[in-house]
Amino acid sequence: MAEYSIGLDLGGTNLRAGAIDKSGKLLEKVSGATPLAAGREPVLDDMVAVISQLRSRCGRDGLAGIGVGVPGFIRLKDGVIGNSNNLAFLENFPIRDELERRLGAQVILENDANSAALGEKWMGAGRKVDDLVLLTLGTGIGGGIISGGKVLHGYLGMAAELGHLTVVPNGNPCGCGNQGCLEKHASALAIVNMARLLGLGENLTAADVYALAKQGNEKAHTVFITMGQALGIGLAMLVNTFNFPLYLLSGGVLAAWDLFAPPMLAEMRRRSYTFRTTDTRVEQATLGNEAGLYGAAYLPWVGR
Ligand SMILES: [Zn+2]
Repeated sequence: MAEYSIGLDLGGTNLRAGAIDKSGKLLEKVSGATPLAAGREPVLDDMVAVISQLRSRCGRDGLAGIGVGVPGFIRLKDGVIGNSNNLAFLENFPIRDELERRLGAQVILENDANSAALGEKWMGAGRKVDDLVLLTLGTGIGGGIISGGKVLHGYLGMAAELGHLTVVPNGNPCGCGNQGCLEKHASALAIVNMARLLGLGENLTAADVYALAKQGNEKAHTVFITMGQALGIGLAMLVNTFNFPLYLLSGGVLAAWDLFAPPMLAEMRRRSYTFRTTDTRVEQATLGNEAGLYGAAYLPWVGR
């Protein structure tokens, strides 16, 4: 049996895990049966079950390691999620130690967006570069920074919380305690909220707002211009900070690229000399919601 690694991505509405070999080939993939809303014990049981299932199918001998991506601010040294808006029941719980105890194996914990960025670097849109930033545009906005081929962690593991960059002084309030965070102005949820405030409807999805804009609805179009500008302000800060060659965006909202990218790029040109005068690229990520799985599986090989 060739060497392989197991990656698990805890995010969205349920969890996904895969066994991937060193060349990046996905050998087996399973989805958890338990919705994340079910709470701590069922979710932990499910995580252990899918990892055990993959391990018994692919064999213990070739297993290089187990990587797990989880949402939230993570204290890497302790293996604990400090703050997680989506998975409050895992906050301040020693998730890494508990998984290691139940599995009888070492587990490497990582932030889910960091994992996704690493996945894109390994097998996706970032494979030709060693330095990139990924923004995942979903209900919130996650961020991952790959520098020199590795995840940039900061001293505790909380670096790259890019969804909480301030892009509007005194803007919309955020669960992190700040106002005007990028994720409150440029996520899928921000699009839906803006559309509601503009009277476009109560239960719209971001795709509905996009469809309205394409039908010529000016208010709906304004939503994407506003969102694109907020994103451009955040990206300009990142370009000015890092001078990386590549900035990737992922998430369902990318379907609205034709509407939000022009104001986003205009804002970046306006606010970043580097962006305006170099071949710095902003592109769509290519692994979709499997990026986190690939990145988590890559963790045992790339090391910290
Ligand atoms: Zn925030």
